[in-house]
Amino acid sequence: MKLDVNVLRYLTKDEFRVLTATEMGMKNHEIVPAELVERIAGLRNGGAYKNMKTLLKHKLVHHDSTKYDGYRLTNLGYDYLAIKTMVNRGLIAGVGRQIGVGKESDIFEVVGEDGRVMALKLHRLGRTSFRAVKSKRDYLKHRSSFNWLYLSRLAALKEYAFMKALGEHGFPVPEAIDCNRHCVLMSLVPGYPLVQVKELANPDVAFETIMNLIVRLAQHGLIHCDFNEFNLMIDDDDQIIMIDFPQMVSVSHKNAQMYFDRDVECIFKFFGKRYNYAPTTLGNKEESQQEDEDAEDDLRPVFEEVAGHAGSLDQELAASGFTKQNQEVLEQYVENAPEEDDEDDLQADDTSETDEVQEPSSSSFERLTIATEADPSTTNSLSIAGEVEEGLQKR
Ligand code: ADP
Ligand code: MG
Repeated sequence: MKLDVNVLRYLTKDEFRVLTATEMGMKNHEIVPAELVERIAGLRNGGAYKNMKTLLKHKLVHHDSTKYDGYRLTNLGYDYLAIKTMVNRGLIAGVGRQIGVGKESDIFEVVGEDGRVMALKLHRLGRTSFRAVKSKRDYLKHRSSFNWLYLSRLAALKEYAFMKALGEHGFPVPEAIDCNRHCVLMSLVPGYPLVQVKELANPDVAFETIMNLIVRLAQHGLIHCDFNEFNLMIDDDDQIIMIDFPQMVSVSHKNAQMYFDRDVECIFKFFGKRYNYAPTTLGNKEESQQEDEDAEDDLRPVFEEVAGHAGSLDQELAASGFTKQNQEVLEQYVENAPEEDDEDDLQADDTSETDEVQEPSSSSFERLTIATEADPSTTNSLSIAGEVEEGLQKR
């Protein structure tokens, strides 16, 4: 997908105002009735309609008239709102090439005002299929309307909170810089995911480091749950960095043991297959090389042994703004998540079909200078100054 942020430069305050009004309306409506957009935007003389035309042209909103005349934000529209907020906060000044694409995220290089290159992860829960999830969404009955904006925002909030806490506890993770809506801004890891690394100088060292990470996480009360060669990066100094945290659970989760064993197994399998490496001893266990067939099994860390000393990180995180209820909603989503090949796709008309990672190009950053705050005379019904989130929460 291409994130052409040039459009951002040319949008007027009123256009942003209407875009934001659409976002606010989506708190309770999957498709926001046109007159509601109009009302929230509070522009005189059909102003919303006029501005909507530009937003439609740039595919920031989508018009839907199947049930009634209404609009919804597209992925791109949501991306722009978040990016604009980070620009207003002085954190990013330009967006560059796409460096990663996951099933439920897009990752771009971005540059700060000081020239620092960082990574921006845009969460896209519900990208593959939203309807399949909706059909099983009784767990969300307490919310009158739930949607992909909400889920993606939760995933970003969780990722940010976990990355920050893990970093503070000395885990090798990217530096968590900021979070807004569905976006997490983090430091760029100068390296590659292991899946791209054909050969390792010291597979035994890497293996032990990685296995120790699983154990140390469990000792702190956490399980990664997607611990594999895609989410472990190795940097230019041969340091292992782990990424991708929205699916992490506490060791007190009912399936904790299964998740833990699965993480361990992934690493054993990958190192065996890719680097032809199987451990003979692990950590400081003084096991001599056993010849019998069970030897390998004995080297796997045992969940009950390590998680027995569960630390307080899982509880600390619960207090970080990412609540237990948030966690439950996300877990439910992960458990009910649709298969990748599901065709029934609500986002099909969005601009994200071409999921190709762009080749690096030289001067690849689009500089952004954006007309910032809204005209004070028009802000009475809407706080548009980047902090729309607050407005959303108050309502
Ligand atoms: P997903 O949840 O979609 O799997 P990830 O967080 O795992 O997303 O990121 C997908 C890919 O993007 C990674 O495999 C990696 O190649 C790249 N990536 C993610 N974060 C960073 C980062 N901070 N620095 C460099 N590359 C990154
Ligand atoms: Mg990943």
